Amino acid sequence: MDFRLTDEQAALRESVRDFAREVVAPVIAEHYERHTFPYEVIRQMGKMGLFGLPFAEEYGGMGGDYFALCLALEELARVDSSVAITLEAAVSLGAMPIYRFGTDEQKATWLPRLLSGEALAGFGLTEPGTGSDAGGTQTRAVLDGDEWVINGAKAFITNSGTDITAMVTVTAVTGTNPDGSKELSTIIVPTGTPGFTVAPGYSKVGWTASDTHELTFDDCRVPAANLLGERGRGFAQFLRILDEGRIAIAALAVGLAQGCVDESIRYAKERHAFGRPIGDNQAIQFKIADMELKAHTARLAYYDAAARMLAGEPFKRQAAIAKLHASTIAVDNAREATQIHGGYGFMNEYPVARFWRDSKILEIGEGTSEVQRMIIARDLGL
Ligand SMILES: Cc1cc2nc3c(=O)[nH]c(=O)nc-3n(C[C@H](O)[C@H](O)[C@H](O)COP(=O)(O)OP(=O)(O)OC[C@H]3O[C@@H](n4cnc5c(N)ncnc54)[C@H](O)[C@@H]3O)c2cc1C
Repeated sequence: MDFRLTDEQAALRESVRDFAREVVAPVIAEHYERHTFPYEVIRQMGKMGLFGLPFAEEYGGMGGDYFALCLALEELARVDSSVAITLEAAVSLGAMPIYRFGTDEQKATWLPRLLSGEALAGFGLTEPGTGSDAGGTQTRAVLDGDEWVINGAKAFITNSGTDITAMVTVTAVTGTNPDGSKELSTIIVPTGTPGFTVAPGYSKVGWTASDTHELTFDDCRVPAANLLGERGRGFAQFLRILDEGRIAIAALAVGLAQGCVDESIRYAKERHAFGRPIGDNQAIQFKIADMELKAHTARLAYYDAAARMLAGEPFKRQAAIAKLHASTIAVDNAREATQIHGGYGFMNEYPVARFWRDSKILEIGEGTSEVQRMIIARDLGL
């Protein structure tokens, strides 16, 4: 048991920390306010190799692992979550399905651009009528000669409508299994395919500098060769992608929770009330101590889940625990950090206001807190 970082991991963490402070922090508030996508920041993240972190060098990756991605996400989210979720969704939801399940040709076609950050991919699972219950998928794909014809809609798809979005993977019903259940498969749909429409971006409470759209497919035709992996494996594919993704979201949540500690310490030292810094009051000190405790323990939970995954051991329960705990404490820390900032905490110009607005989605996206509890209970044999 040794959760200390190697020199290489510590160096990565430092370089992303510096990047977040020096490059992201100065520009992100304006993007957040205007709801614009930070293309220049994303381009620089691509140059740093962040989009290729957990992928093999033969596809243009950095030859690192999933834990390296998590370290980068934590450091980015310590400063801003829109940028962090853009990386998380691009890597763990966008490129990873192609990397894990794609044919050699699909990997050669898509991975070099996705891993360099020149292009982004979306992951189309959620639908307007069904999210937690992915078995309720209504989007259908029918094989017509050597083409799939897709009809349906997807909701809340991250990175699906930027100027550099190259494609989305779409989960669709492609038939009926022998037991009567839906046969689900995943199909690659390149941006610009006729019949594939990207709606204008949602007006969101948080993550406003990230890209999220509803997608519709109206007799949208793609080559049969765009099937990702085997027909009928869609369910197993997205379960694997989401299990891993939960560790990444936990890391992002820990970053936000730690950012709340950073900002609270800074403010508690400079803000005076009753003739002394508010941080001289034990009530404020205890709040910050509890926030640090929560960030630390949630970090250990995602380190543990990542270690199990990388060792090839079962990690479903630990990933769900990490995601559930980290998202819960991120919301707690954002609430307390806002409280420590008083009225200024309610002003958008302060980072804690962004943290507060960005924290709630962590209890919803990539499986709600209720879904995490279902996964944990099921894994305990209930
Ligand atoms: C900003 C943003 C980005 C997103 N990005 C993506 C993306 O890139 N790709 C993608 O596919 N999806 C994405 N999502 C969708 C997200 O994963 C879903 O919103 C989430 O899984 C919940 O699904 P839902 O919204 O349909 O809620 P529902 O499933 O309708 O749930 C509503 C409520 O009921 C609860 N509930 C449901 N079933 C049960 C049960 N059995 N027991 C107890 N409680 C239950 C839920 O926990 C929740 O509280 C994104 C969402 C947002 C907001």
